[in-house]
Amino acid sequence: MPELRKARLTARDRARLAAERLKALYTAVSELDHTDAFQMLVATILSAQTTDRSVNSVTPALFARYPEAAALAHANPAEVEAIIKPTGFFHVKAKTIIGASAALMERFHGQVPPRIEDLVTLPGVGRKTANVVLGVAFGIPGFAVDTHVKRLTRRLGLTKSTDPVKIEAQVTKMLPPEEWTGFSLRLILHGRRICLARTPRCPECVLNDFCPSSTVRAKGGRRPSTATAARTRLARGRGAARRRPGHRPGRH
Ligand code: SF4
Repeated sequence: MPELRKARLTARDRARLAAERLKALYTAVSELDHTDAFQMLVATILSAQTTDRSVNSVTPALFARYPEAAALAHANPAEVEAIIKPTGFFHVKAKTIIGASAALMERFHGQVPPRIEDLVTLPGVGRKTANVVLGVAFGIPGFAVDTHVKRLTRRLGLTKSTDPVKIEAQVTKMLPPEEWTGFSLRLILHGRRICLARTPRCPECVLNDFCPSSTVRAKGGRRPSTATAARTRLARGRGAARRRPGHRPGRH
C-alpha cells in the first residue's frame, strides 16, 4: 500500500528526497534581482506579501536613486513610497527600508552585517529575512522559515510544529548545512507555485510519491518502492525528478 511505503520513510529520508528533487526543479534559489548584500536585504524586505517579479519591477529605479544605505537612510519617504508602490504595503515598507538603512549607517558603517545576531536587530528584519540574506548574499547556511516553509514542512511530515524557530532547528538537523539555504528557498518557490495553501496541486508535484499529504497516487516510474529503494536512490543521486515542461527556472 502506498501509505505503508510512505510510513516507512523517516522524516530525514523525506527531507533529503525533497531537497534533492526541488534542487533539480528549481536550479536557482532566489529570483530577487540584486548585485550586493544591501540590495538583497532591501529586496527581501520588499518581497513580503508580493511576488519577486513585482519587487524586480521596482528595484532598478529604487537602487538607481538610492544605491547604498547612506542614500536610502536619508531618503524622502514619499519619494520612496512612490517608487515601491507596486509591491503593496508601500507605506510600511518605505519606513522599514529607510529605517534599516539608517540602522546600517549608525551601527554597521553602512554595511550589511554577515551575522544573524546583527541582522535581526535591524528594523523589519526577522530570522526569515536574515537567513535569506545570509544564504543568498553571503553564502552562509541558513534555513529561512516563512509561511510557505511552515506549510510544506508540515505537509511533508518533517515537523509537527508551527513555531518557526523549532522548525528551523528540526529541519537543519536532517540536512547538511550546505543544503539549508537552498532547501528553504526552494520550499518557498514550491509553495508559491505548486503546494498552494488552499489547493495543493499534488498531481503536478514532484514530491507526490512520498509526501504523506499527497492527494494522489504517485506515478509508477518515479516512486521509490520501499524505504530501502528510496535510500539507495538517494545514495546514487538518482532521485531527481525531471523538470516539468514549460517550467521557467530562476534566473540566478
Ligand atoms: S504532494 Fe501535494 S501536499 Fe505534498 S508537497 Fe506536493 S503539493 Fe504539497
